[in-house]
Amino acid sequence: MIAEVVINSTVKNLDRVFDYAIPVEMEDEIEIGSRVLIPFGRSTNYEEGFVVGLKEKSDYEVKEILRIQEEELSNQEMKLAKWMANRYFCNLSDCIKLMLPPGTATKKIENRAKDKKVQVVYLKKNIEQIKEAIQKKEIKSAKQIKALNFIKKNSGVTIQEIELFTDISRSIIKTLEKNGYVEILEKTIERNPFLHKVLERTEKLHLTEEQQYAYQQVEKAIDEKKHESFLLYGITGSGKTEVYMQLIEKVVRMGRAAILLVPEISLTPQMVDRFIARFGQETIAVLHSKLSIGERYDGWQKIKDGRANIIIGARSAIFAPVKDLGIIIIDEEHDSSYKSETNPRYHAKEIAKKIAQEKEIPLLLGSATPDITTFYEAQEGKITKLVLTKRANESNLPEIRLVDLREELAIGNRSMISRYLYQEIENNLKNKKQTILFLNRRGFSTFIMCRECGYTLKCKNCNISLTYHKKEEILKCHYCNHQEKVPTVCPVCGSSKIKHFGTGTQKLEMEINHLFPNATTIRMDIDTVTKKNSHEDILNRFKNENIDILIGTQMVVKGHHFPNVTLVGVIAADSSLNIDDYRAEERTFDLIVQVAGRAGREKEKGRVLIQTYNPDAYSIRYAQKQNYDLFYNAEIKMRKQLKYPPFCDIIMFGISGEEEEKVKEMSNQIYAAIKKKIESSQIEANLGLPMPAPIDKIKNRFRYRIIIKAILTSDLIQMINECLKENFKTNRTKTRVITDVNPMNML
Ligand code: ADP
Ligand code: ZN
Ligand code: ZN
Repeated sequence: MIAEVVINSTVKNLDRVFDYAIPVEMEDEIEIGSRVLIPFGRSTNYEEGFVVGLKEKSDYEVKEILRIQEEELSNQEMKLAKWMANRYFCNLSDCIKLMLPPGTATKKIENRAKDKKVQVVYLKKNIEQIKEAIQKKEIKSAKQIKALNFIKKNSGVTIQEIELFTDISRSIIKTLEKNGYVEILEKTIERNPFLHKVLERTEKLHLTEEQQYAYQQVEKAIDEKKHESFLLYGITGSGKTEVYMQLIEKVVRMGRAAILLVPEISLTPQMVDRFIARFGQETIAVLHSKLSIGERYDGWQKIKDGRANIIIGARSAIFAPVKDLGIIIIDEEHDSSYKSETNPRYHAKEIAKKIAQEKEIPLLLGSATPDITTFYEAQEGKITKLVLTKRANESNLPEIRLVDLREELAIGNRSMISRYLYQEIENNLKNKKQTILFLNRRGFSTFIMCRECGYTLKCKNCNISLTYHKKEEILKCHYCNHQEKVPTVCPVCGSSKIKHFGTGTQKLEMEINHLFPNATTIRMDIDTVTKKNSHEDILNRFKNENIDILIGTQMVVKGHHFPNVTLVGVIAADSSLNIDDYRAEERTFDLIVQVAGRAGREKEKGRVLIQTYNPDAYSIRYAQKQNYDLFYNAEIKMRKQLKYPPFCDIIMFGISGEEEEKVKEMSNQIYAAIKKKIESSQIEANLGLPMPAPIDKIKNRFRYRIIIKAILTSDLIQMINECLKENFKTNRTKTRVITDVNPMNML
């Protein structure tokens, strides 16, 4: 017998099938999905691969499979992996990896102690510095490099876990510590983070009429064992989660399992507690990227063994190895974190749909501000729309006011805080209520410019301006982490008139401290969220220490419930509006509605102030009214007119490399190949010329892109796959090509 094997490698040239002979003693064991070790290339070299097909004979002279590795895939998983590789133009082995347990233990996993002191290993240098050290041969040992990569990929990993999941020994980590590349912190960990938690059990609530109707529609699909997609469209607090819980209970009672996806950032202990209080912790598995590799492994096994039948997780939990799945629920279905921005660039919603169709189960999407595409499909009748119009606990929606910053400028107020916001903050301080201020820019100033010649300081690796961080007196690149000192004279004209412009959270905090010297403040952005001071810690401090004002970026938008917050200020609503992306209006609308949702979740009515230079933009106007339907109607008209999703798909090729000429050459080659194919076929597609990307250089790599606007049909998929294969065979340069279907980031 012959096995067709794909090699577990990211090199595109290797993404094809190789034939291997199956030794007689393995014939009974090897099947499609088996993970195998095979000789490859030079005789001493072994690679891991997956069996994707079986046949009687090969046309080639073949080598033998060396051995079978432990974890394997089911036929259904293999089928899904193949579908993904084709649909997202990526390697089959990369898709297969998503379906394997996180890390594969090389030693006996049961040997781990339950509760004990562990040593957590952190990188002490940033990725760029480590890369440089490797290039300069300051780090030579392959094991050390492997260790650094593993630590980078698994933040919060312990020495014990490294020993368990890799062939790297403790002494290698110690050497890295001695040489200053990693630091080791001792910590006591609980293997099971919920074990000692005692939560009072909650009973299911009596559903409102609207909730009951929504519940029954989905229940019917469960009972009839058929696939149907639903959109549960309801404002925050309308009781969507209660509906999810009762549907999950129904599925579990039938002996089946449920997957609930939530955005990574919403997956807080409070959120999980609600489910534990209802279902108990024994049957719940939580999967997300902040867990240690050991915890993720445990969760995965718990699901595989059938001990857990409620799976709550972020994007990749859609691949959890559930045996008898009864429903998939995606909360905040519009959230961009469901789309993977690394290979394979899949969208969890599309995967969920595929799985739900295969398994003939319902898919329930929930949101207060649905994705425009989802809502369109609901309007078209492809998705069943279920609506919750009222808040379940009778709290009021906050009142939103717009502040026109142009008027502030006209009266000479150059501060970031308008007169109205100032007044409201003062009121809140007087009444001992809490305030959240939101600004989508971190750092102090967003750029530094010479007043004499207009030169702006840019990163030497990326074509993007450097941000001034006042506390450290340093300029940072937010794309590659490059840092440099603030110059005293302009590098071009020598003038000393270099000033910083634009605003960031650091500057906002300083201004607030200056305006309200007696108020306590806390800031949350990537710069204050560190390994020792997590997102959770900051929010807990804000809540428990009753700090007056929380200042933050995107991160403050989701997750917690703050009963004492009655005022939310959006400092500059325009920052998400002025980006070069067809979703700019949608993102602005979502963001404002979500930020507003932070205010007044209790009986007391909250106030929201939105400062903007564009009070007439429809996203801002309709967000002020908190009216999704009006927004949708305006937005869908524009999408139709400009032919953007849902009226077509966007397929983006990103071509990047260190030599601009090579990047251009490769771009032209791909463009010509696609053009030829489109012209000789019936495919209707709008192919754009290769162009430098809006940010045309990141980390010293030049970036070009080609965009196709077309409906992604199976013909088009096949055509693109052929093009990519043909163009890669002849090209072995360091130029990289990524293909992204409906990318989240167009920069
Ligand atoms: P959403 O998920 O839409 O934001 P939740 O399910 O979290 O809404 O509900 C908001 C609040 O209303 C919660 O405190 C919840 O316990 C309560 N709630 C939900 N459904 C009901 C109900 N049928 N009766 C009473 N309270 C409810
Ligand atoms: Zn100058
Ligand atoms: Zn940079």
